[in-house]
Amino acid sequence: EVEKDPEYKSPIVCVLGHVDTGKTKLLDKIRHTNVQTGEAGGITQQIGATMFPSEAINSLTRKLPNINVNILVPGLLIIDTPGHESFSNLRSRGSSLCDLAILVVDIMHGLEKQTLESLDILRKKNIPFIVALNKIDRMYQWKAMQDEAFMTTFKQQQEHTQEEFIRRAKEAVLAFAEQGLNAALYYENPDPEDYINLVPTSAITGEGIPDLLGMLVNISQGSLAHKIKYKPQLQATVMEVKVIEGHGTTIDVILANGVLKEDDKIVLAGFNGPIVTNIRALMTPMPLKEMRVKGEYLHHKKLYATMGAKISAQGLEESMAGSPLCVASNEDEIVDLCEEVQRDIAQVFTHINKKGKGVHVQASTVGSLEALLEFLKESKIPVCSVSIGPVHKKDIMKAQGQIEKLKRKEYATVLAFDVKITQEGQEYAEQVGVKIFAADIIYHLFDRFTEYVKQIRD
Ligand code: GDP
Ligand code: MG
Repeated sequence: EVEKDPEYKSPIVCVLGHVDTGKTKLLDKIRHTNVQTGEAGGITQQIGATMFPSEAINSLTRKLPNINVNILVPGLLIIDTPGHESFSNLRSRGSSLCDLAILVVDIMHGLEKQTLESLDILRKKNIPFIVALNKIDRMYQWKAMQDEAFMTTFKQQQEHTQEEFIRRAKEAVLAFAEQGLNAALYYENPDPEDYINLVPTSAITGEGIPDLLGMLVNISQGSLAHKIKYKPQLQATVMEVKVIEGHGTTIDVILANGVLKEDDKIVLAGFNGPIVTNIRALMTPMPLKEMRVKGEYLHHKKLYATMGAKISAQGLEESMAGSPLCVASNEDEIVDLCEEVQRDIAQVFTHINKKGKGVHVQASTVGSLEALLEFLKESKIPVCSVSIGPVHKKDIMKAQGQIEKLKRKEYATVLAFDVKITQEGQEYAEQVGVKIFAADIIYHLFDRFTEYVKQIRD
């Protein structure tokens, strides 16, 4: 374990993109390639993330014939659960803890609906990203060279395959231009400050993965150099709340800066106000091969950023995913920090219609609620009230108020994003005529609601 402050920290990398473009597969492949080659400094599984250390990156980027990668960062911390949900929870005081993102695009399909949604989120949060133009192996008569650098494999493709690639890459560049964005194949990029890098990849053959990792490192150490300097000031966020056998309710956190220690007094947001408790155990998963012998988790006295860790402590039952995590160094600080975490949550609620006109919105976490509220604001759908967690009768009653007060039937609606509807809630809604739309994808909720409004007005 490290004993002093590191100079650099690993950048936090998120993966976003349309469904079926290969986000999960790409993460699997990045992990697997290294396991297979078995070279120095294996990857480690962390909580909610995979740490891809510099030695492992180096063994791949050495293969790149066209770019130089001189690695200073300890590694890349890639968030394991791809998509908006985990991206949204990587938040602290309204800004994102994600340093850099990979936007995955299927080269055979171009930009799709959720690609645009992801683009929107990345632009709004001002997160730099590179594009993985994935599934290159699906082009006609592609000849795969497992885990190779893109240039190496591209050069040995037949002419018609090369032409197909060039045509599809041009189409992607055009599609980004339609979104008002300059993009270029990364090895032809005229100005990386101005043009998004497109990196051709295959999550099946591993081709282009050296390029992808190399670009992530180079961008982090280049234009993002200020972000990868380690800062002792704690910056951490609650990604998930989970019940674990033998540990009770635990929180999975991403530590983006600073240090966490056993026994630290932590402050975080809860469903019924701030939670103040002491870290009982600070854990990361056991390396795979030792798991059976020593149990599931490694315990630590102290962890430095960047890290994904599990915390067990008393009284975490009401924890809110998406809350910032703070450490109080003395009793006086506790009050301030309680206010701070509540303020952070309150900030998310500012989109609510002051006149009390609008739908009721419910989401599973602070992050997803924030993403949904931003989207609804842009779509000009007013929101009168919000909640986090499962939909109960009391939540339905908030929407019911819209019928009585405003006689606006369409607002007597609950938009439920990635949450359960309790049976009692469902029954009550049917009884009083409140409509519930539930979905796991933001734009599905939007589509169904707008369709419903149209129906009512017709
Ligand atoms: P996600 O929804 O973005 O996480 O997509 P998945 O990783 O689940 O992949 C969707 C499907 O595309 C799966 O059947 C994958 O095997 C396949 N797939 C993903 N990446 C590639 C690729 O690079 N080449 C090919 N041929 N198939 C891929
Ligand atoms: Mg997936």
